[in-house]
Amino acid sequence: MARPSPLEIYALLDKSNCQECGRDTCMAFATDLLERKVTVQDCTHLMQDTKQAKKRDKLIVLATPPQKSVEVGVGDRKCIIGGEEVLNRHQLTYYNETVIFMEIEDDDPDLEATAKYLTNLVIERMGDVLRVNGIALRCVSGDADQFKLAAKKLTEISDLPVMLACMNPDILLAVASEIKGLKPLLYAATKDSWEKVGKFAVENNLPVVAVSNDLDELMTLSATLQKLGVKNLILDAMTVFGPGNVALTYDNIMKLRIAAIDKEDPNAGFPIMGVPAAYWSQVKIDNDKKLWEHQYQEIIMAAIMESIDTSLIVLHSGKNEEDIWTLLAIMTLRQSVFSDPRIYPAVDPGIYEIGEPNNKSPIFVTSNYRLTKIPVEIDIKGANVDAWLLVVDSEGIGIESAVAGGQFSAGAIAEAVKEFGVFEKVDHRILIIPGMAARLSGALEDEADAYVVVGPRDSSGIGKYMKEQWKPEEFMKIYEDLKE
Ligand code: SF4
Repeated sequence: MARPSPLEIYALLDKSNCQECGRDTCMAFATDLLERKVTVQDCTHLMQDTKQAKKRDKLIVLATPPQKSVEVGVGDRKCIIGGEEVLNRHQLTYYNETVIFMEIEDDDPDLEATAKYLTNLVIERMGDVLRVNGIALRCVSGDADQFKLAAKKLTEISDLPVMLACMNPDILLAVASEIKGLKPLLYAATKDSWEKVGKFAVENNLPVVAVSNDLDELMTLSATLQKLGVKNLILDAMTVFGPGNVALTYDNIMKLRIAAIDKEDPNAGFPIMGVPAAYWSQVKIDNDKKLWEHQYQEIIMAAIMESIDTSLIVLHSGKNEEDIWTLLAIMTLRQSVFSDPRIYPAVDPGIYEIGEPNNKSPIFVTSNYRLTKIPVEIDIKGANVDAWLLVVDSEGIGIESAVAGGQFSAGAIAEAVKEFGVFEKVDHRILIIPGMAARLSGALEDEADAYVVVGPRDSSGIGKYMKEQWKPEEFMKIYEDLKE
């Protein structure tokens, strides 16, 4: 089904513009529904007026993406998995980034410390906070009590969503019934266990993974589980390593995505998961190799999966500080793959406080291109300088291009100085412009009535610049002499 237009959605709404959904008009609601900022359930009229039930049901179908989304966990760290409308990001955008679950074994003596580390792990990169999304608790003990104890310890220490991974359905369901309130993901329903696991999932409204390395069998499993009443399903065509198997794994994921999104096959229309962690159970660990050489294989598989929008991956490596490089690579790639191509990377123009600036602090000037403003801010902080950062509207373009294109001009900077009352915050009139904008300095002095100094070409030189060249009294003396 083609992506509906706002008008098609509007046609099914109440059109009373009652504003109970927090939107000014039903048309605004229609636009936000398309962008997933609201859900059909947010329209009180459609939800409460029984006469409009048909329209509501039609709208739910229209607003549901060909690949449905599945929620795992509860509370602030609940994650939304899948729910995509396009095969390639450039066709629209991806809405939900690949969710990363970290595998912990139920007999791991460091379970609590590892869970605590992963729960609290925060990586800040270019203004975004990067975190892992969940923990896959794997039953390797084969013992229900051990698995139960591990689940208890894990859920006491962590608020991350949990996947219970156990191929014995009796053990799986015994533990799932203990923590069902936390909405764990059940792994897995197979051709042998689908009925038991599926019924439990329906009764408790829990998400479940259907697993098979045969795509036809996986589609049959999906159809059977849906018939049973399972609504929240994730598909796993299995991850395999070894010669030719990486290509096979890749092909299976792509086939499922194409079937869901292009062919709208209802049995394929669910999130897809991959398990790079399977490397450690499939490959004979060659002790001549260093640990990182093995980890590297797992991380390459994870990167391949992220690059083709696999909805969820399970990783083994990266559970302690020494192995942070594995997560850094995967999270950085994820940040790039899942940025919205429709949003120009710009930040709001304005005067930003870095540290605790006062009336003597320097004023740095930069553009509102996000990937310029954030590194400049990081470099000022890194240099331990309390400063004002004037961010000029350069239409989201970086300094060098914006100077050439005229968006970062003496006029635009002078206007920003005035608009944001920059010189009311300090008792000097000095502006530090980036080295790449040096040629604006003369004109800017006239237009902003300022003393303009040229800072480093690269913001990484700010610390050195402040130590060696920042001489505000001297600069102000020159400014005053010139005024006379
Ligand atoms: S609650 Fe429904 S009827 Fe009211 S403005 Fe929002 S969309 Fe329109």
